[in-house]
This record gives sequence, C-alpha cells and structure tokens, in this order.
Amino acid sequence: MAVLYPADRGSWWAPSSASCFYCGQEVEGIAVLWVGSGEDLVLHPQCAEDLAVDLIGDAREAQLASGAHPWPTRAAPALRESLLASEGIDA
Ligand SMILES: [Zn+2]
Repeated sequence: MAVLYPADRGSWWAPSSASCFYCGQEVEGIAVLWVGSGEDLVLHPQCAEDLAVDLIGDAREAQLASGAHPWPTRAAPALRESLLASEGIDA
C-alpha cells in the first residue's frame, strides 16, 4: 500500500482510473494506492481505513468460524455477555 500524491498522477506507474474501489466516487487529491497481483486499487484515505476495518472484522469472523485457537475461547465469554445483555440479565 502506498500514497498516491496529486503530482504522481500521470506517471507511468500511476493508475489511470481515479474511481475509489470502496465507494465508487472519483478520488481527487491524495489517495491510497494498493498494488496487488491484479488490478491496482485507488481509495480515498477514509475509505481505505473503513475497508481495512471491515477486512479485519471479516478476518476475525472467519478465524472464529474455523475454530482455530484462540478465537473460540475468546468468543465464548463475549457471546455469553451479549446473550445475557440481550435478555436483560445482569451477570
Ligand atoms: Zn471512497
């Protein structure tokens, strides 16, 4: 991941598309650039942050679903508290 500055636009390595991968709106000014194995991604800085948080959440959920240590033992107490709170029961 890198920062794409306005002065970089038009460089041979800069993506020609200026649409944000996350929100679809045009990105003007400073952008975040992700160069992967496929299409390069351009994002508004805030969209990059929002995407990162969403990805971390999805990764945690996938790790929890896998049953790999330590997620089940960490999630069980959290689930217990959530269920008690939803039923209005003080722990
Ligand atoms: Zn955006």
